[in-house]
Amino acid sequence: MTDPVAANTGAANTGAANTGAANTVTPGTAAGRTGFALELRGVCKSYGIAKDRLARAADDVTLELAAGAFVALTGASGSGKSTLLHLIGAMERPDAGTIVVGGTEITALRRGALAGYRRSVGFVFQRYHLLPALTALDNVIAPVLPYRTDFSKRDRARELLAAVGLAGREQSLPAKMSGGEQQRVAIARALINTPGLLLADEPTGNLDSANASEILQLLGSLRAQHQMTVIMATHDQQVAAQAQRLIRLRDGAVVDDIDLAGGYPVEDVVRSVGQLG
Ligand code: ADP
Ligand code: MG
Repeated sequence: MTDPVAANTGAANTGAANTGAANTVTPGTAAGRTGFALELRGVCKSYGIAKDRLARAADDVTLELAAGAFVALTGASGSGKSTLLHLIGAMERPDAGTIVVGGTEITALRRGALAGYRRSVGFVFQRYHLLPALTALDNVIAPVLPYRTDFSKRDRARELLAAVGLAGREQSLPAKMSGGEQQRVAIARALINTPGLLLADEPTGNLDSANASEILQLLGSLRAQHQMTVIMATHDQQVAAQAQRLIRLRDGAVVDDIDLAGGYPVEDVVRSVGQLG
């Protein structure tokens, strides 16, 4: 039996040169798009948790992710998964280090350009974060409502709801949908701007295992279809093992970086990762 951990090349994948302009809202087609490659160098972030105590949420993180990669960020609660997603999504700024996404150094961007960058990134959260008073369709449209787009917002939202298996549910309110359905709406919403990068923070954390595996499959197929890079934080090894690459954090630092693209059985990956302690 091949040991996926032993087989890890550790080779940071550099990917092809990425031409995706990070601060333009792209048309409703993904044609020619390759997803964003990422490069993190020496990224550090600490939070003051008491008068003279700092929590190291990101500790000298250096990583390269290929355009179109499907990466699981894993590690115990408090290991820095959400922090790393927030830094990559420019919701937080690092104390030190550089982050390059799709060829743009986002750590050097000013406010206006940062807002443009954020619009080129899709976010999915554990608790869906849907607006309860809005229908599924209007929730999907919400992120682009304030902006002029060169696509029909309603048509695109309908297409996306169909792509996540919710055709016919456009007028449903979140309260009338199951957790799995609400997460599908949230995924459709995250795709409204044709993001080059999708950041998902514990996207299956509130779902049972059947719904979780459907959401994972959906993320995988949308990644291929929309040519996105996907980074998913999860503390669940079973979920993480289904990505192409597994990066494990401890105290904000990368402790394992495993290439899973060889199609190893999930059980073998979980066992091997478990042995790393
Ligand atoms: P994870 O998502 O893996 O559970 P987090 O990134 O949320 O981990 O947290 C990493 C560390 O940073 C933890 O020690 C956490 O308490 C701390 N932390 C995260 N966000 C904040 C914040 N806004 N203020 C203070 N401490 C924070
Ligand atoms: Mg978290």
